[in-house]
Amino acid sequence: MKWTRGPVLGRGSSATVSTATTATGDLFAVKSVHLRQPDSLQKEQHFLSILKSPYVVSYKGCDITTEDNKMVYNIFMDYMSGGSIIDLINSRNGVGLNECEVARYTRQMVQGLEYIHSNGIVHCDIKGRNVLINETGAKIGDFGCAKWANQVTPICGTPMFMAPEVARGEEQGFPADVWAVGCTVIEMATGGSPWPDVDDPVSVLYRIAFSGEIPAIPDELSNQAKDFVSKCLIRDPKKRWTTTELLKHPFIQQFDDNSQQIMCENLRTDSPTSVLDQDVWNSTTESSPAAGIHFPQFDGLSNSLRQRIKQLAGKSEMPSWSCVKGETDWITIRINRSGDRKIEELVGDRWR
Ligand code: ATP
Ligand code: MG
Repeated sequence: MKWTRGPVLGRGSSATVSTATTATGDLFAVKSVHLRQPDSLQKEQHFLSILKSPYVVSYKGCDITTEDNKMVYNIFMDYMSGGSIIDLINSRNGVGLNECEVARYTRQMVQGLEYIHSNGIVHCDIKGRNVLINETGAKIGDFGCAKWANQVTPICGTPMFMAPEVARGEEQGFPADVWAVGCTVIEMATGGSPWPDVDDPVSVLYRIAFSGEIPAIPDELSNQAKDFVSKCLIRDPKKRWTTTELLKHPFIQQFDDNSQQIMCENLRTDSPTSVLDQDVWNSTTESSPAAGIHFPQFDGLSNSLRQRIKQLAGKSEMPSWSCVKGETDWITIRINRSGDRKIEELVGDRWR
């Protein structure tokens, strides 16, 4: 298939997503990485090619191109005209979504996850940036961290959205995706991070793993919405609700997609919304399009990590985090099993 690359739609930690058009004028999205680092994109292609659901971004194929004398691996997907939920929040100056919108997108996200889980796949990186929207609603995207439920793999995902059992390095199964749904509902409602008062990934992991706390559930949510989030954020993964149970929760069960869309649009103009704590959120998640280091909140992180690990090294219950994804980049955290614990930051050498 002949196609032409168009403007960039988004840049994640691993890839660049652009529009693409065919000679016949068809428009779609293409996610690309340099061929020397295609592993996560090949994995993503594998999972996307298996999954077919109205609530999962549709896969259209893949190819290899040569651009600027470099081999590029591309996967094609449906173009999602609204971008991600975070793009939507940013377009509204960081203001969170109204509760009707939150309920609608949450319902579609949980429907997508139930389908993904029923295929034996764990997504491992549910968050607003990975939920894409178009005129029909929300679809789950970015399968770069996905794995088979029975597969033993290094921990993958975004620290702010990690469940306690993941942060402790114990397991990353279906319940971990449900915890991330709870965090994403908070993100949608507030426009900000589920852990707004913590800004470095090691601190947040430590707090999630060992503090016994859950993220604060926004006061402005209805009791039904609060109850839904509390069922996602049960710290014990065995007691946490499953996607099948969540779909029966009154917060998301009540409307079908169409009636809910009409209601949400009517509510849009006068619904109360929560105000983003822009400074905190920007300081923890903003990515920059420039090549190389693009993780401003990690400026000086090597030092803070060194300090942090000095604090953590004394704790006997230190988890074996091996590989976690920061909000906008990868951080590799290595722990020397001989007992001499070391954390290293690795800012990826990625194509932008
Ligand atoms: P990260 O690892 O940081 O989560 P990534 O490198 O895996 O990201 P994606 O999450 O797949 O990349 O995409 C990055 C951004 O590109 C999204 O947040 C969204 O803004 C945009 N995007 C991705 N896929 C599409 C699509 N199909 N249609 C429109 N925009 C898209
Ligand atoms: Mg992503």
